[in-house]
Amino acid sequence: IALNRTKAIPDLHIMRFRSEMVESLVEETRLAAELSRAAADDELLTWYQPIVDLHTFKMVGAEALMRWHSQVRGMVSPAQFIPVAEQSSLILTLGEWILNDACQKLTQTPLTHQQDFRLHVNLSARQVLQSDLVDTIEDTIARTGLSPTKLTLEVTESVLLDQNRETLRKLETLRRQGMHISLDDFGTGYSSLAYLHRLPVDSLKIDQSFIREMRDSASSQAIVRAIIAMAEGVGVEVVAEGVETLEQAEWLRKMGCQMAQGFFFAKPGDIQQLKQMANTPLPLKTHAIKP
Ligand code: C2E
Ligand code: MG
Ligand code: MG
Ligand code: MG
Repeated sequence: IALNRTKAIPDLHIMRFRSEMVESLVEETRLAAELSRAAADDELLTWYQPIVDLHTFKMVGAEALMRWHSQVRGMVSPAQFIPVAEQSSLILTLGEWILNDACQKLTQTPLTHQQDFRLHVNLSARQVLQSDLVDTIEDTIARTGLSPTKLTLEVTESVLLDQNRETLRKLETLRRQGMHISLDDFGTGYSSLAYLHRLPVDSLKIDQSFIREMRDSASSQAIVRAIIAMAEGVGVEVVAEGVETLEQAEWLRKMGCQMAQGFFFAKPGDIQQLKQMANTPLPLKTHAIKP
């Protein structure tokens, strides 16, 4: 560091900035190393969040969401560790782990006898790009015995954006076997409603940011309305994400949205909690709105 005071000040800023960068890099590397042991050490968990029909408030599916219960760190959020895993092939290990775990656990619940129930599993872009994607999923289905018609794969818009022929072909192959493809976080990317009908998708999930802003923002309301109308027009189902209030649920139902997921109905929970909810004859909220 220069002794000259006028120079020392900016230099110190740069130094601090650099050391923060190095620290976060070291931290990410450490996290990745711990995470790669997590699967082997039984530290990964699958939680499930119900997806409900907005007319009956009954469960029609559930999304599998990964949790990491680290001995050292406690509960780590996927928002923290999935982006780290996505930087390497680690996401492939984690992705295969949850697909297998969720399919296996689901075959043991009464939910699989329910005709319209679907298990949603997230696929990261790197997984979709693997040449053996179809084989991996087919193997899991064969091994666990879950019917392919009970499985929905959630992908983000970016996966389909480049219209990669190979990707489209893989998704079509999976759909022919009865699986559904759902576009996750819809509206946050470069989604063009105009080409929705040309994509191999069965449903889309409106990102929770729009649902959150609906109450105070006329433009968010207009966007949600447009997404629902367009999806209906091209025969794509709609799930609203992040529904936290009855008001939001009612508004969405009136707009023609069929399904929703969010804390208002249920927070993500373990397989036992999911089974319990499945066994309750009542809708998820007893004060169900009148259709
Ligand atoms: P996502 O796929 O969009 O999942 C929905 C997220 O919204 C979940 O967060 C869920 O807990 C949260 N959520 C649901 N309802 C509400 C609500 O009413 N209010 C609020 N504030 N949040 C709500 P979670 O479990 O923390 O997961 C975050 C993200 O991490 C997921 O977003 C997904 O992108 C990723 N992720 C989680 N599990 C997996 C996985 O197994 N594989 C991959 N590739 N990504 C995963
Ligand atoms: Mg998802
Ligand atoms: Mg989502
Ligand atoms: Mg999201």
